[in-house]
Amino acid sequence: MRVLVINSGSSSLKYQVRETSTGELLLSGLVEEIGSGEVPDHGAALDLVEEHLQAEFGGDPELEAVGHRVVHGGERFSAPVMIDYEITRAIERLAPLAPLHNPAHALGIRAIMRKWPKLPQVAVFDTAFHRTLPEHAWRYAVPNELYTEHGVRRYGFHGTSAQYVTARAAELLNVPVNRFDGIIAHLGNGASITAIKGGRSIDTSMGYTPLAGLVMGTRSGDVDPSVLTQLMIRGEYTAEQLDTLLNKDSGLKGIAGTNDMRAVIARAAEGDEEAELALAIASYRVQKYIGAYHVAVGGAQALIFTAGIGENSWQFRERVCEGLGAIGVKLDRMANVEKSREPRVVSTEDSAIAVLVVPTDEEAAIADQTAELVTAAGPHDTGRH
Ligand code: ADP
Repeated sequence: MRVLVINSGSSSLKYQVRETSTGELLLSGLVEEIGSGEVPDHGAALDLVEEHLQAEFGGDPELEAVGHRVVHGGERFSAPVMIDYEITRAIERLAPLAPLHNPAHALGIRAIMRKWPKLPQVAVFDTAFHRTLPEHAWRYAVPNELYTEHGVRRYGFHGTSAQYVTARAAELLNVPVNRFDGIIAHLGNGASITAIKGGRSIDTSMGYTPLAGLVMGTRSGDVDPSVLTQLMIRGEYTAEQLDTLLNKDSGLKGIAGTNDMRAVIARAAEGDEEAELALAIASYRVQKYIGAYHVAVGGAQALIFTAGIGENSWQFRERVCEGLGAIGVKLDRMANVEKSREPRVVSTEDSAIAVLVVPTDEEAAIADQTAELVTAAGPHDTGRH
């Protein structure tokens, strides 16, 4: 099936066209500065996408479905859904939980409804895979009304990636996915770690928002919440300032001045103390979560590294694994430095937990899930001639 995958943001629209029968990526692009003079709105952005498709495919691009990345599915969505007006409204109503993302997704969905009204659209939620968390993992120990009135709970993100990587890892190890217990370290500019038991997510480090958990490019990850309340009580910072501080100016950037892991590693190798400290804090945080999730899943079969840092940085993988001797992790240092785009094992044969590098591909996962749902929904008129 030929699927248009859309990641619609407030000022940008990323897109890919994929053929799901072969897994082929046929085309990809990005429209930026939506809201500016040249691209006033998402409808205009989609006109540019259409032009690109026509230039590439000649005339009718023969799309059969559209799959949308949707950041927040709240408590309602535990799987991809076919989009209609009511679903679009539901995505919009989750805006309080994802104010930057969900309204922008709805704009992209509506623009497509107007341009290609008969094309089936599917929403794939970043939170959905984590709907299997047990309540003791998603509930915070705060007064009940924060949950019942305000939806304050752990939701978790990077779910589409975690689900995709789980399937690839189980394949690689030749275990049925429902018997697979592992730990997924998704280490990109945004970073999270997920505990997988029987192929399902049972805990994850991001929380109510993507700020919690690991040290990220510009996000702090876990801090004592009193840091915020105290700074506000003392009148040193406003809530908005702290929000920016923790989301945009912290993490690697806060300690080492840059959010680019390549630069941090290069500077640390030259003896830069701030860069070295940033690496130490970030890798130690990952180790702590691995220890915790090894217990949570009852003994992991595999530890999987994915995303920009996890896939590409042998140095960071080595640093993390060096601290995991107590749980029997033995990295194969030669295998770990080899470059490859394929899923692979980078631990020694006698390692108690297999260490894997598995490239993630959220767009491929969205295309596949879209095709699956549209096929299951039965024949439809796509409006093609
Ligand atoms: P996003 O969360 O934006 O999708 P990515 O998964 O693309 O992020 O990861 C971006 C991060 O990956 C950056 O910190 C970048 O420096 C890091 N990265 C990419 N390639 C390498 C590499 N070869 N070595 C170390 N870090 C890398």
